[in-house]
Amino acid sequence: MDVFAGLSPEPVWRHFAQVCAIPHPSHHEDALRQHVKAWAGTRGIGVAEDKAGNLLLTKPASPSRSDRPGVILQAHLDMVGEAVAGSSHDFTRDPIRPQVDQGWVLAPGTTLGADNGIGIALALAALEDDTLVHPPLEVLLTTDEECGMGGARALAPGWLRGRVLLNLDTEAVGGVLCRLCRRLRRRGQRRASHRTGPGGKLAAERGSGRPASPACPSLTPLSE
Ligand SMILES: [Zn+2]
Repeated sequence: MDVFAGLSPEPVWRHFAQVCAIPHPSHHEDALRQHVKAWAGTRGIGVAEDKAGNLLLTKPASPSRSDRPGVILQAHLDMVGEAVAGSSHDFTRDPIRPQVDQGWVLAPGTTLGADNGIGIALALAALEDDTLVHPPLEVLLTTDEECGMGGARALAPGWLRGRVLLNLDTEAVGGVLCRLCRRLRRRGQRRASHRTGPGGKLAAERGSGRPASPACPSLTPLSE
């Protein structure tokens, strides 16, 4: 049964369902990584993996946007695995079992992994939509974000070509977090919600961290 049947946009929820079905706690992201790589291969989307296990998916610009600065969509592959006391859930083997309850998407008894599964789902849905008109598009999926941002810290200078980065790992309702990476480094970051509603509702789950993106020193600042 498709627990997300009827939710829109369908591609986003389809991808999120696939992410939920593949265990991917921190340090155990490889199954999800392989899934994304295989999916990209079937869609003709470029995919590269660095030594840290970060993925970079690339799609050429639409013909009318080939002269525009590239855009990077960023999310992370791993999730925080937390279960209620007494649970036998094994995050390295057992899939997340989401439910829709009164307008909220939840995973009873466990974290849902919307942080950052919904970011991955949004990015893949954007990549597969051939009706979108866009500049050169990159999707950066980092590894080991929740345990010290190991993937982001390992990014090689020059790996990213785009000049605008949209961080899809945010709790802002109805918006995206757009900052220069150097500002992110100073300000710290909050984790995205572990649950999200079909109407775009997000429940805050505060965390802390020190994002670092040494591979993107020349990002174009966006207005607040
Ligand atoms: Zn996150």
